[in-house]
Amino acid sequence: MILTDLLSERGWLLADGATGTALFNMGLQAGDPPELWNDDRPGDIRALYRGSVEAGADLFLTNSFGGNAARLKLHDAQDRVRALNRAAAALAREVADAAGRPVVVAGSMGPTGEIMEPVGALSHAEAVEMFHEQAEGLKEGGADVLWLETISAEEEYRAAAEAAKLAGMPWCGTMSFDTAGRTMMGVTADRLPRLAARLDHPPVAVGANCGVGASDLVRTVLGMAGQNDIPLIAKGNAGIPKYVDGHIHYDGTPALMAEYAVMARNAGASIIGGCCGTTPTHLREMRAALEATPKGPPPTLDEVAAKLGGFSSEADGTGGAAPARRRGRRRG
Ligand SMILES: [Zn+2]
Repeated sequence: MILTDLLSERGWLLADGATGTALFNMGLQAGDPPELWNDDRPGDIRALYRGSVEAGADLFLTNSFGGNAARLKLHDAQDRVRALNRAAAALAREVADAAGRPVVVAGSMGPTGEIMEPVGALSHAEAVEMFHEQAEGLKEGGADVLWLETISAEEEYRAAAEAAKLAGMPWCGTMSFDTAGRTMMGVTADRLPRLAARLDHPPVAVGANCGVGASDLVRTVLGMAGQNDIPLIAKGNAGIPKYVDGHIHYDGTPALMAEYAVMARNAGASIIGGCCGTTPTHLREMRAALEATPKGPPPTLDEVAAKLGGFSSEADGTGGAAPARRRGRRRG
């Protein structure tokens, strides 16, 4: 499999940055489903993908984060799941194959947006079916690997694993640790690699994406490291979102993201990219820093805070009781 081959050959891989941020810059309106652009504006989606590849990414995610039936139903497009995912992956395949070097196409699958049983109404079987439908479309389009991201519930992670097995696809899966070091549904960083390893169809890599800021993300990687041998993924936001002149702006500079990339690798991650706010300009500096800097020892929390800024919460969520759950979803 191209992802594991590349990883063992190179030791680390650069993943891509933000999808949403790039599409908003191309004119996507807040609330519109980006997946429709796979059919309506394929040139823009190719440009999105090429932006990552030309900045040096070894792996990029398809424009299919919200491409499951539950999410597309909000736009009356639930009958287009398979076709939109196939198109997302086919455009990506085209760009990856033209790169002139090995580039991995990762088929993005985000949360269903629904709460699963026993807390909510979505059953395990329904969630598996939704992810499976999406996975088959991504597979048909030519994705190398499925890429589950921004998950907060263990139940949803399990359902996606089962769907990947049904589709006969390798997969990676990241959660979003955005609630005082835990996911919104209470999963801790140290728990994720352990629960992943016990799955019937374990992921080839696990990790964290989105969340709060670059410093929290590195703290989460430190919490995941050393649990077992599953490769770790770090996809942190480019700083903290700020509302400036009527739009959301992420305050992380390319230089900060370069520091973050080196620290994430020292903390134990081997697949390193960005999430919201991370542009090709950030990716270029991350790539240059990773190439110029040999891997060092894991940073201390003081070093992380000194270089990347303070943490959003005092503890990393691994000790004591879970903080109160809060509502709200964000895009990958
Ligand atoms: Zn994000």
